[in-house]
Amino acid sequence: MQVWEHAWFCSACRVAFWPAGALKAGFPASPAVPAHEIPLTIATMAERAYGQA
Ligand SMILES: [Zn+2]
Repeated sequence: MQVWEHAWFCSACRVAFWPAGALKAGFPASPAVPAHEIPLTIATMAERAYGQA
């Protein structure tokens, strides 16, 4: 999925995050997301960024 391709993942902390502007210009940075919440977070962010899940 396109959102996932832009994610940064820290294997030490087991969190993913998206820097400001990673998805599109002006899109705010995400908070760090625990690994088990990543699928839900990606679906939510895809909806916000692209208007689809
Ligand atoms: Zn870390």
